[in-house]
Amino acid sequence: MPLPRITLDPSSTLYPTRDHPHSHPHAHDLPKPLHVETHPKGKNTGTEDASIFFIGNATTVIEWEGVRIMTDPNFLHAGDHVHLGPGVTATRLQNPAVDLHDLPPIDMILLSHFHADHFDQDVEKSLRRTLPIISTPHAKECLEGSKEGKFEKVTALDHWESAIVDIQNSNAAFKITGMPGKHVPPGPAGLLKKINDFIGAVPPTNGWMVEFGAKPKTIEAETDGVDVGYRMYISGDTLLVNELYEIPKRFPNVDLMLVHLGGTTIPSPKLPLAMVTMDAEQGIKLIHLIDPEVAIPIHHGADGDEPPEYDAFLSSLDDFKAAVAKDEKLKDRVVYLKRGGKYSFKASK
Ligand SMILES: [Zn+2]
Repeated sequence: MPLPRITLDPSSTLYPTRDHPHSHPHAHDLPKPLHVETHPKGKNTGTEDASIFFIGNATTVIEWEGVRIMTDPNFLHAGDHVHLGPGVTATRLQNPAVDLHDLPPIDMILLSHFHADHFDQDVEKSLRRTLPIISTPHAKECLEGSKEGKFEKVTALDHWESAIVDIQNSNAAFKITGMPGKHVPPGPAGLLKKINDFIGAVPPTNGWMVEFGAKPKTIEAETDGVDVGYRMYISGDTLLVNELYEIPKRFPNVDLMLVHLGGTTIPSPKLPLAMVTMDAEQGIKLIHLIDPEVAIPIHHGADGDEPPEYDAFLSSLDDFKAAVAKDEKLKDRVVYLKRGGKYSFKASK
C-alpha cells in the first residue's frame, strides 16, 4: 500500500483561520523571535536552513523549504479554562507568543491528540476547514464530526504508520510517522471513580517522528518515502511506558527531540492523584532512551518566577533544569526556549 501523501505549496498564502478579519494587518512571517538558539555544540553554525518557533504549551511552528507546519495549536490566554475530561478542568496561566489571528500562512497541522490544551475550543471554531491535519484515528473522527464544521483534510496515522508530506516545486519532503504514546497511567485498579472516568475519557495520543529529507529518485525507494537528512522526535503527551522502548530500535540517530513535560496531574492541582504526562525525572529517562543530539523541553511547568502553562502542570522546569545540569551526558545537549524563542538547525544534507 502506498503511503498517504499530502502536498504542500510553499507559495500558498492561505491563513490558518477561516475568519481572518480583514481589519487585521496580514502577517507574512512569524514575529521577530525573542531569542534565537542554535546547536549547543556549535555544529552547523551559519548553515541553518530550518527552525522551530515556540509559541507556548506544545504549540510550535516548524519552518523549512518555504512551508510551515504547526504542532498542537493552543492559543488560549492566561485565565482561560479547558475541559480535559469528566470533572477535570485546567486553567491556562500563560499567553501564547502569537495570537491565532496574527499567524502568518500555515500549511499543515500535526496534532498529537484531541485534548483541549492541544486543540482548544477557539482553535476548533476558527481554523480553516481545508487546512491539512495529521493526527490520530480518534482525532480524525472528532475533527470530521466537529459541531463547528467538518475538517476536510485529516489524515489519520496510528502508531508506526507513516505519511509523506511533499513540498511542491522542491526536491524536499517530510516523512511523518506516528510514535507510540500513552497519556494515562496503567491499570486504573484501586483509584477513585473520578480517575476511572477520566481515564475512560482520555483520548489516544501519538508522538511523531518528523524526518526531513529529499524525495526518492527511484520508484523502488518510494516505500521509504524520503532520503532522510534530519530526524526530529516529538514525544507528545505520554508517560514513559514500555512501548516507547521500541522507538530507538526503529529510529536510531535522532537529531532533535521535543519533550512534553509538565507532570500534568488530575483531577486537580489540589487533589493530585494521578500523573498523566512526564515529570522531570521521566523526561530525563526518555531523553536518555532516545539519545538525541539536542533536546528541547516544551509543555512544561513553572520556570523560575514564571507560572506553568496550565495550573495542572505540577512538575517545574526548574526541577528538569537542575537534573540536566547534574547529568554529564545531557548538560550540553538541552536547549531552552522561551515562548517566542526560536531554535535554528540544518535539516538538509
Ligand atoms: Zn497536554
